[in-house]
Amino acid sequence: MAGTVLVTGGSGYIAGFTIRQLIAEGWTVRTTIRSLSREAEVRGWLGVDNDRLSFFAADLISDDGWAEASTGCSHVAHLASPLPAGAVKHEDDLIVPAREGALRALRFARDAAVQRVVMTSSVAAIAYGHPPGQTTFTEADWSDPAAASTGAYPRSKTIAERAARDWIAAEGGALEMVTVNPSLVLGPVLAPDFSASVEVIKRLLSGSLPGLPPLGFGVVDVRDVADLHVRALTAPGIAGERFIASGRFMTMAAVAQVLRDRLGDQAAKVPTRRLPGWVLRVVALFDPMVRQITGEIGRTRATPATHAHDVLGWTPRPAEETIVDTAESLIERGVVKV
Ligand code: NAP
Repeated sequence: MAGTVLVTGGSGYIAGFTIRQLIAEGWTVRTTIRSLSREAEVRGWLGVDNDRLSFFAADLISDDGWAEASTGCSHVAHLASPLPAGAVKHEDDLIVPAREGALRALRFARDAAVQRVVMTSSVAAIAYGHPPGQTTFTEADWSDPAAASTGAYPRSKTIAERAARDWIAAEGGALEMVTVNPSLVLGPVLAPDFSASVEVIKRLLSGSLPGLPPLGFGVVDVRDVADLHVRALTAPGIAGERFIASGRFMTMAAVAQVLRDRLGDQAAKVPTRRLPGWVLRVVALFDPMVRQITGEIGRTRATPATHAHDVLGWTPRPAEETIVDTAESLIERGVVKV
């Protein structure tokens, strides 16, 4: 089934691959960007059939443009939300656009009689603020936005997803909502303006990290995350569900090992030395960016995607392939000099 779908945040990393797949599968796609001055640039890197893609200007924190973008759509994929590359001045810089944007996407979708909104949430709305002993998380878990250990980004994603679900229950009417909750999204980049999540591979390759911190994350490929969004748009009988999109949990040391094993000389700057957790804690005293991740030291947060596999037949590619494709794409585009 293919209809007309609005993908919010067309300049984004995951949105780009989602738009490409939707168009390949016969959908007519509309997308929002903050300013139409970027339309030509975004069209350039998407490289799709221009007749099946149209652009609308809309910001998460304003009503302008949303009615025009939503009217006539059968489905919405709401991906736009701020994803910071480092520390933010104030957490409301993330929370307000994340929450208000989600509510806006839903409200205008309902008013336009859209059938279903697939909202991109995150494992950040699942696996944070829990006791240190818990190492595996499922769709039944919710991050605790009030916990001191929950950073600004997980807080923004948790508050936004909760607000969206509360709104759907109270005011959504016939509108259905499903969330896709990815872990760290890696994979080839379409443009120099890639997501903050890819920074981790860029920093490993460029040798800008003094060593390998004791941190880890679930790895998932951007092409597989896009595919899960497309499946979730139309699969019957899944209203209200959450779908984790994640491959296996990997430490930075394991990711570095994949780069060294598979890239040979191109991985010459990838560090081999492991940094102990206490070094990070000392650096965090002076560096707000490092402070944001001290809660991650030594933590395992495995987020199996069994539900997406069982219900939607979703099978992500191996993490090794994703890591190598990310690195090769960054090298090819000249983003990192190796
Ligand atoms: P991205 O490349 O940074 O894309 C974010 C998009 O949101 C961009 O199009 C950005 O527009 C837009 N945006 C941000 N603030 C906005 C505002 N105030 N008004 C309108 N648009 C705004 O990141 P991504 O990785 O594709 O992320 C897409 C979604 O996936 C987000 O909801 C993110 O939280 C979620 N997610 C990402 C990851 C990951 O590892 N990448 C993991 C889990 C969940 P501009 O280009 O104008 O800034």
